[in-house]
Amino acid sequence: MVEFILIPPDQKWDKKVIKLANEYNDLVRKWQLKNDKKAEEKIRDFIIKIEDSMIKETNDKIKKDHAFMIQLIEERHQGMDLFTPEALVLEEHMLGRGTSDEELTFKEMGSTETAPTSQQPFDIQSIDLTKIDLLNLEKITPDDLEKSDQKCAYGDGEILDEHGNVDGEIWRCKGCKTVYHENCLRVCLLMKGSCQICDVNFLPRK
Ligand SMILES: [Zn+2]
Ligand SMILES: [Zn+2]
Repeated sequence: MVEFILIPPDQKWDKKVIKLANEYNDLVRKWQLKNDKKAEEKIRDFIIKIEDSMIKETNDKIKKDHAFMIQLIEERHQGMDLFTPEALVLEEHMLGRGTSDEELTFKEMGSTETAPTSQQPFDIQSIDLTKIDLLNLEKITPDDLEKSDQKCAYGDGEILDEHGNVDGEIWRCKGCKTVYHENCLRVCLLMKGSCQICDVNFLPRK
């Protein structure tokens, strides 16, 4: 049985995300009163809703707020497998770069017992793009970018870092010309299988 713990919503989050956090906390409070399977299932269903909301969110900032919320929940439920590995990869990806205000806020607010997030059983790098029959995608070089500060479709910032380098390969959607970091494309293939922006299929439909 999981010990569900309340999370502190950050008032700087988008309203939508604060609402999700409050609803999550309500379910946890109900579970604390009536510690039964049904209450637990409701929380688990809601976690799927949170993941879904993060995946579908197209605004960078709001997507990141989702990731912070997931991180807060995850931290309090170490080793409980509340989230799918895919959602955790996306969360880590959204929070793994830069030092935004939000990230600093999170550090101030987050619990003090931050256990190391070591044993990640799933490694996104293990998805070998050369072994997938990718549709509507082309690999490009930094020179092919429309502009040097072009952003990644995944909302994690610019394709090139401040030195003009890229981590891994750059992929471009043939449908809408949006570009992806190699790892962001992996996440996109896992979560969606189609373009984050224009929805064109990247994987052959069964
Ligand atoms: Zn596209
Ligand atoms: Zn990216």
